[in-house]
Amino acid sequence: MSDEAREIGEEVRNLKENGHFTKMYRTLSERCTKVLEKLDAMDVSGRSDLREERRRVINEVKNIAEKELPTKVHRDGQFCNNCEIQRL
Ligand SMILES: [Zn+2]
Repeated sequence: MSDEAREIGEEVRNLKENGHFTKMYRTLSERCTKVLEKLDAMDVSGRSDLREERRRVINEVKNIAEKELPTKVHRDGQFCNNCEIQRL
């Protein structure tokens, strides 16, 4: 389950800082949401090792979605006329 998180993290780190909103940005943001949903739905009852791993990956993905991704687009969070997309 950490493979997808690592992949998303690498792609996010490859984006330039303070760029325009792009389809790539939106896709990465959606992938974070999907991974988090999948992790939420996972049955880890009775498996403390899995539960630990899940918590670690959830934190990793949340950090990407909430801290790293927002640094890749306009600081004010607003779309400009030159952004590839005009809404998420
Ligand atoms: Zn822009």
